[in-house]
Formats: sequence, C-alpha cells, structure tokens
Amino acid sequence: AGVIRSLSQGLRRITPFGSRLYSDEVRTVTLIPGDGIGPEISAAVQEIFAAASAPIKWETSDVTAIKGPGGKYIIPPEAQESMNRNKIGLKGPLKTPVGKGHPSMNLLLRKTFQLYANVRPCKSIEGYKTPYPDVDLVTIRENTEGEYSGIEHMIVDGVVQSIKLITEPASRRVAEFAFDFARAQGRDTVTAVHKANIMRMSDGLFLKCCREVAEDYKDIRFEEMYLDTVCLNMVQDPTQFDVLVMPNLYGDILSDLCAGLIGGLGVTPSGNIGADGVAIFESVHGTAPDIAGKDLANPTALLLSAVMMLRHLGLHDHARRIETAAFQTIKEGKALTGDLGGKAKCSDFTREVSKKVQEIE
Ligand code: NAD
Repeated sequence: AGVIRSLSQGLRRITPFGSRLYSDEVRTVTLIPGDGIGPEISAAVQEIFAAASAPIKWETSDVTAIKGPGGKYIIPPEAQESMNRNKIGLKGPLKTPVGKGHPSMNLLLRKTFQLYANVRPCKSIEGYKTPYPDVDLVTIRENTEGEYSGIEHMIVDGVVQSIKLITEPASRRVAEFAFDFARAQGRDTVTAVHKANIMRMSDGLFLKCCREVAEDYKDIRFEEMYLDTVCLNMVQDPTQFDVLVMPNLYGDILSDLCAGLIGGLGVTPSGNIGADGVAIFESVHGTAPDIAGKDLANPTALLLSAVMMLRHLGLHDHARRIETAAFQTIKEGKALTGDLGGKAKCSDFTREVSKKVQEIE
C-alpha cells in the first residue's frame, strides 16, 4: 500500500484498495440505502461524510426486485445504469424472502456486476474488548460460483441436487486478487482455505489455481489449510492469520466467524470487487428488522465500508480522518450503540463521529 500510495496523484490504475489514485475531484457514488435499518445507517454515513467534507456526491438508487422481460427478476434498470455510470457503489442491507418470492438481490447484484471477490478486513478495535486484542486478518471470498451458483433441481420427489461449480478462470481470478491485495497492503501471507481432501475435483481445482498463482508472487508466503483446521486454529489464536482466500460457501461462513472475533456484524465492513472496475462496498450485516426505524442501529459497519471505498478511490486522507473519528468514538465508549453494550442511539453516535471528524487534522 505504501508503494502504491507514494505513486503520484492523478495516476489511474487498478490494484486492490488504495489503488485507484484520483485527485480530490468530486466522485459520484451510487448509494443503495437498502431495507430495514439501511436508510438510517446510510443517512448516518452521509452526515459524517458531509462533516468530513469528503468529495463524494451520492446518487441514490432503489434496489427492489422487479421482473424484467421474460419474467426473470432483475436489478431495476435505473440502478443498473447508475452503477454502470459511476462504477462505485455503497450499499446497505437488502432483505431476502426465505424459500419463495424473489431471489436474493445481493446475489443478483453480484452476478450482474461480476463482483468476483468479497473482501472483509477483520481488525480489532482499540478500546473495544473482545477475547483477542490483536486480530488483523482479511478474508477474500470467491463471490460468483461454488455452492452459490444457483444450480439446483429436484431429481425425483424427495431428492434434490445442488451443483457446486468451480472453474479455473474464477479460481485464478480470485487467487490473483488475493495476492495483489496482500502485496498492495504490505501483508506477507496468503492462506488458501479448502477441503480438497474430500471435494477432490472442485476444491482440488481451486487449490491448484492458488498454487500456480502463488508461483508468480515469490515475495508473498503461500500456505494452504483445510477449512476445519482453519476453524479450530481461528478460535484458538486468530492472530496467526493474515490474508485468507477461499471458495464461496466457506468464505460466507468463515467471514462471519471472523467478524465475531472483532465485535460482531455491527462493526465489520466489506468490499465487493468486480470485473470492469466496478466495486460495491457494503456492511456485512442484514436488515435487522427487530430494530429498524427505531434509531438503534450501529452505523459503524457501513461507515467503515465507506472508508474502504474512499481508499479504493485514492482518498486516503478523508478515509483516515473518518476512520480515526469512528474508532476514537468507540474507544471513549460514551456513544456506543446497544450491540456494543451501550445505550446511545444511532443519531448520538453519528453526531459524535461528525463532531470529532471536524477536529481531526
Ligand atoms: P441481521 O444481520 O439483520 O440481524 C442479526 C442480529 O444482529 C439482529 O439482532 C440485529 O438487530 C443485529 N444487527 C445487525 N446489524 C446491526 C447493526 N448495524 N446495529 C445493531 N444491531 C445489528 O440478520 P438476519 O436477521 O438473519 O437477516 C435479516 C434480513 O437481512 C434477511 O432478510 C436477510 O436475508 C437479510 N440479509 C441481508 C444481507 C445483505 O444485504 N448483505 C446480509 C445478511 C442478511
């Protein structure tokens, strides 16, 4: 990251986070507030960004499931056009009906924009007590295939088949992303997480791609570990891990476990990196229907996702100030929301971070 950061301003190239270097020109970002607590936490992020004078113009887009020609569910065309135009999005949670109704809009977004790498940094927050004080790892999840390919069918009554799809291009693409990311962030190890002992062909192919890609990154240590061994080691000592790359389903599960190690879903950000320079940053939690509309949600996860977005845009200074203000607020402990053991409202936390960000040089 240091090397990339030191490149001259105005240079345009794409490498993971902290990579697209732009001047302080105002950037338009597609904002998808989402459902449930989404609109409240999106408003909180907008308020804090305004206080920080971040050069971001928001283009708000609704993403509700609609049927396109042929009866298939699609992302509303206005949202698609906005994303295609801006290339960068910030997204709140979207609700998914269980069992029937429209499919997951999250999945549809991933497919539509080929968001192939889901990146989740899990870093302990100073002053917020968790079992391990020094967690600093990143999970990188292949986001387009595996068990989530959506290929399911009933063979006969009572027998259902779900296909786990693993392809060489997708495995190689995410492995290359993981190594590029490690290099750009000054991290030294990439661990491939797999079950190639059981899923010999599918995970075997994923692992083979990781091994081959590792050959081109001699400066980064490469390790491989069974998913079950990772789980065991993770809860015993998460500080031993650095960057982990894995197929879709394992990433979905393991990344939530990692979020739990640093304080839960309310404080964990993520980024979805796509083909053609598209990226959507989002909080990892859901719509929290139990607290929606009550001013009780913690906006930190969406705010830190927005900070990742700023770094992706090369706006490091604004990112640092906002992140510092959020962490200082949590460390002080006076404006903590309920999920972090406090009594503050979403608006109290937002006001405190907005005040602090204006005081930080
Ligand atoms: P959830 O994350 O919405 O809620 C789980 C628990 O965490 C609840 O008690 C909730 O109050 C709490 N919580 C979550 N975010 C919080 C925050 N920012 N501040 C304070 N507390 C918070 O998970 P769920 O209840 O399983 O899912 C609800 C809906 O969200 C479902 O429709 C699901 O499909 C959807 N969902 C969407 C996404 C996404 O858009 N990326 C991710 C997960 C779930």
